[in-house]
Amino acid sequence: MPRIAIAGFAHETNTFAPTPTELSDFQLTTTAPSGMRGDTILANPDLAMPIGGFVSAARDAGDTLAPICWYAAEPAGIVTAHAFERIVAEIVHGIATAGPVDAVYLDLHGAMVASGYDDGEAEILRRVRAVIGPDMPLVASLDLHANVGDGMIANATALVAYRTYPHVDMRATGARAHQIIRWCLDTGRRPAVSVRRLDFIMPPHRQSTMTEPARSLYAELETIEAQSPGVVSMTFNMGFHLADIPMNGPTVIAYAADATSADAAAERLARSAASHEKAFGIGLMPPAEAIRLALQQPPGKPVILADVQDNAGGGATSDTVGVLEALVAAKVDDAILAILHDPESARAAHRAGEGARLRLGLGGKLMAGHRPFEADVVVEKLADGPFAFTGPMMRGNMGNLGKVACLRIDGVRVVVAEGRTQCLDQAYFRHAGLEPSRHRIVVVKSTNHYRADFAGIAERIIEVDSPGLSSMNTAALPFTRLRPGIRLFGGGPAFKPRG
Ligand SMILES: [Zn+2]
Repeated sequence: MPRIAIAGFAHETNTFAPTPTELSDFQLTTTAPSGMRGDTILANPDLAMPIGGFVSAARDAGDTLAPICWYAAEPAGIVTAHAFERIVAEIVHGIATAGPVDAVYLDLHGAMVASGYDDGEAEILRRVRAVIGPDMPLVASLDLHANVGDGMIANATALVAYRTYPHVDMRATGARAHQIIRWCLDTGRRPAVSVRRLDFIMPPHRQSTMTEPARSLYAELETIEAQSPGVVSMTFNMGFHLADIPMNGPTVIAYAADATSADAAAERLARSAASHEKAFGIGLMPPAEAIRLALQQPPGKPVILADVQDNAGGGATSDTVGVLEALVAAKVDDAILAILHDPESARAAHRAGEGARLRLGLGGKLMAGHRPFEADVVVEKLADGPFAFTGPMMRGNMGNLGKVACLRIDGVRVVVAEGRTQCLDQAYFRHAGLEPSRHRIVVVKSTNHYRADFAGIAERIIEVDSPGLSSMNTAALPFTRLRPGIRLFGGGPAFKPRG
């Protein structure tokens, strides 16, 4: 039975975010236990992450695993050289000293930008490849939001990405990576690869695979993979738009037993995706208008207002207050909002205790040019420490936002937290004593992942135009280094380098 070395190093880098991602940020606990080493990885086979799915699939197949380490951090600014070098060195050294292995699996994201490296994953794969030689299978799983550069394709035997957004197939993707490794080992071959790059950036709030056209595009991907003779694996990365790098943009990658089959498969899916370009526009609603529309909906089920641009999952601060201010100004009598990342206010509420009334400057502290929202609040509920996720994406994992408080301003309740993460699970509200389905308006700071757990309870979903570093307005981002000619959104203007 084969012996496979496994490791992970995942980061989605927003190159416009001011805060660099340090080594200490790779001790993520908000959604998964980063910093796992050795057998700890094998002790977490149910982890809702690709590596968890890989471990389970490899065990079922009777393979032996050599676990090295697994790191992830919340999306933010560029990964520091210190963090990058330390973690890559741990992975490379671990593989070099793991004893004889037949293959290597890496759990990567695909949109990491590190100090000195536009394509962080290309450099990780290059260094691992240098240690294992040109022929050993080296397969990496990727997020659907990977910006895949040529260096990644050249150094990996195969790359395989999620097919859902919200990402409910992270474990399945790990299992697919295992299948590809077994195909390589069983056939003794390396698959031929064919790549197509689409000519437009896809704003992420238009990428949901719970809506069209992404739903049909990924269904077509699976059809091609299942029905085209010779095709081993298909990957379609819709890309991560907040990266001022030449490899920003969507990619279709086909792996097949022969180059002709790979080309045909990649071409077919790329043409389909290109034919839907117009669906990948921007179209957000100002908060006051969104609230008016929400209040016109029939009562009974909540209306979800998605604060799509203040998404910590895209590297935003999760502390802007545009929607909160609009709710209070509109005197909405029943709205709840999560997560406002504000350690100072969360701690002040804990010092004051449940039932206390105090004046706080909420949020608005981390983005240049913003200011806190001053309000008299009632501390309704306090929470601290770990809690279990219940939604389809993270079920099986524990979350931890540190100190959390539910604060009420008239009819508006805000979940403030020490931790910074996107609101993709109803557990974040319940942890603070709120049951989302019982409220009129539910505001989530998330671009798309919230749909997995919230779409089912929603009367309607409205995407709101409020400020945040996870901007959907790609035409307004200060890009300088994109691939010339790429359109900034579906049907949008083409990027021209200055000067
Ligand atoms: Zn993603």
